[in-house]
Amino acid sequence: MKDKQKQEFIQKLLTWFGNNHRILPWREEPTPYRVWISEIMLQQTRVVAVMPYFLRFLEALPDVEALAEVPEDRLLKLWEGLGYYNRARNLKKAAQSVMIDYAGIIPSDYDKLLRLSGIGKYTAGAIASIAYGKDETAIDGNVLRVFSRVFADSGIITEPDVRERMEIRVRECLPNGRAGEYNQSLMELGATVCLPNGAPKCEICPVQTLCKAHQDGTMTQYPKKADKKKRRVEEKTILVIQDAKSLALQKRPQNGLLAGLYQFPMAEGHLNEEEALLTVKKMGFQPLHIVRLPDSKHIFTHIEWRMVGYAIRVDELSPRNPVAEPDKLFFAQKDETEDKYPIPSAFAAYTGCFDIKLGNAKFE
Ligand code: SF4
Repeated sequence: MKDKQKQEFIQKLLTWFGNNHRILPWREEPTPYRVWISEIMLQQTRVVAVMPYFLRFLEALPDVEALAEVPEDRLLKLWEGLGYYNRARNLKKAAQSVMIDYAGIIPSDYDKLLRLSGIGKYTAGAIASIAYGKDETAIDGNVLRVFSRVFADSGIITEPDVRERMEIRVRECLPNGRAGEYNQSLMELGATVCLPNGAPKCEICPVQTLCKAHQDGTMTQYPKKADKKKRRVEEKTILVIQDAKSLALQKRPQNGLLAGLYQFPMAEGHLNEEEALLTVKKMGFQPLHIVRLPDSKHIFTHIEWRMVGYAIRVDELSPRNPVAEPDKLFFAQKDETEDKYPIPSAFAAYTGCFDIKLGNAKFE
């Protein structure tokens, strides 16, 4: 883009943002803590889904100190249903570093922000520009999509050299002193107008006259992406073992998929009723009856779980293992399960059968 076009691009974009931006809780009062929490929550998650989580999180943990000290189960319970739980663990780790290294004040310096757990280039740029007014870019998938279309760039968007080229273009357009507004306007344009999956609303786009892809009618061809790897399919059997009062739960290992979260006991493969009963007996229970639950599936980034489930009534869940330890069964009452133990939404089909509400559903 020539200088004149850049000026026009910025002016059109910022005017549009001033008149059209959505009112969002983190925008009302963009403190470093609020910008940080919102940006981490918004990674991989839609704005509408994030809003109630953000408000509850801020109420429970209003500052860096509270976040640094929160017990892990409480933290994960606040995150329950948002997915990608390492984001929450990294928030706590970073908060502890901020308490130790920066006396509880989130740094404004981009490089110092980058050194905190879970903060990458995008989040560091967002905090530095939106909360501290620094001239830094914050480039997420929305921004990349807008720029790849405006420039009709046919490079594969995940390739480092393409990414670098985009970063240079975004930086070249950045209006000094207005980086926070600029970054947010690009994200907002990508999130509400220059939509992914072949549906950009070019007719209402403020930068339509400067957009090469729009002029060529090729908007839906950008951004170019590498072929996706196929997900690995894993078959599981979910065993909801219960007596009159309690359910059997299990804490997952501290590492790997859904680390440290809670689940119903689970067996590999799809078991039939007989095999499920045998498995439960081997666990030391006396099954009284068994009911097949609905099949369900859950998609992670690289894995897909296809699940069958059974509700198995046993005579009595003895009080062994009253404390949750990784991989060991323990027993919890339904309301306790809802309030205390973070269960990922991968199991929502089975918690739903027992009216155990997870995440947002608890507050609806
Ligand atoms: Fe995106 Fe269309 Fe605007 Fe170009 S004109 S930036 S493709 S919405």
